[in-house]
Amino acid sequence: MTSDKEAEQLRSSPNRISPPSRLLFLCLLAAAVPLAPASEPGLNVVRRAHYVMGTVFEIEAYGKDAERTAAAVEEAFAIIRHADEVLSDYRDDSELSRLNRDGAKGLVPLSADLFAVLQKSVEYSRFTGGAFDITVGPAVDAWRRASKEGHMPVGAERSRWLSLVGHSLLRLDESQRAARFARPGMRVDLGGIGKGWAVDRAAEILRRRGIERALISAGTSSIYALGAPPGQAAWKVAIRHPQREDDHLAVVLLRDESLSTSASYEQTHDVAGKMYSHILDPRTGWPVEAMWSTTVIAPEAAESDALSTAAFVLGLERAEAMLRERGLAAVLAGRDGAGRAWAGRAGQGSRGNEMPGNEMPIDEMEVRRIAPAGKTPPWIMMDHGAGRKIP
Ligand code: ADP
Ligand code: MG
Repeated sequence: MTSDKEAEQLRSSPNRISPPSRLLFLCLLAAAVPLAPASEPGLNVVRRAHYVMGTVFEIEAYGKDAERTAAAVEEAFAIIRHADEVLSDYRDDSELSRLNRDGAKGLVPLSADLFAVLQKSVEYSRFTGGAFDITVGPAVDAWRRASKEGHMPVGAERSRWLSLVGHSLLRLDESQRAARFARPGMRVDLGGIGKGWAVDRAAEILRRRGIERALISAGTSSIYALGAPPGQAAWKVAIRHPQREDDHLAVVLLRDESLSTSASYEQTHDVAGKMYSHILDPRTGWPVEAMWSTTVIAPEAAESDALSTAAFVLGLERAEAMLRERGLAAVLAGRDGAGRAWAGRAGQGSRGNEMPGNEMPIDEMEVRRIAPAGKTPPWIMMDHGAGRKIP
């Protein structure tokens, strides 16, 4: 069991892939609320943080029985560790690494978990017109090499790895629950969906164990809000301002939904002195330059994770069209300073939204209520300026 103190050490550990400075700051403002307000006496809070999947996962859960709540939280972490054993590509012994080694030799039988993630990923590839694509691995590797060696990936080398990227080259066989690669040299990279999927599995366990109020976050990228904290109508999550680390772009209220952010101030490749985003356009193999950050709110974290990455690739206009088609809420910030934010559909009906206006400079995102019909409290509230009271 990791204590809060150990978690704090983890946070400041030099081995951490995500140093505090890259904080995307899905800052858990809700942690500041009173733990067990009078409205719900006898509720205990359990907070745990563990380092998994190259980041710190945190869970805050409320329950009547302290021991049972703690056991449920530990069980949720066990499932997150299991997700790492299946999906991680920096572990040679993960199931994904086995697929990446053997996929070009023939059909590789897979666990139900890995197969489900691959199926979901291919679905998102189709939906996003290839903007989200887990076969982007060879291009990711090429940019990592470029960063190490200090020169741009060009010419024949570039066309070689581009020929290895494309979701249609990943063949899934449902009847045998197996996968294979159409070309040798392919590599599946689940960096754009894995943490979201793990968050969903953790939420599922907590729910099954009777927890009705919890917040699960995967480092700085994906979060799931189960119910609401005691005495509150929803969890409040701040989305970091893309250019000012200690400021936020928006505060979002979440209840039984997830939020993911992809951002170019996160990881970047430094190639010969220029910084490139770690998110690539799978169709060109090139790092995406147009966006600062894309935040998507969806019923499941795997979905918000994959679609925030896709939105980043698509840019403001096309991302908005894609996300609205699916009825999802989003907060997008372009590098030119233009921002867009809108509410999703409540249930699946889109009436009654008070839209904040499609386009606004990100510095002018003021308090706006976006209240889908039939949902109280307002689903999303946005607030510009740290410290401002949210009504
Ligand atoms: P983070 O992991 O920082 O939360 P994302 O969810 O946006 O960020 O995922 C970015 C990761 O996904 C990259 O580090 C890379 O491994 C992989 N990736 C990069 N571009 C794409 C893409 N277009 N589609 C799918 N995965 C991608
Ligand atoms: Mg993602």
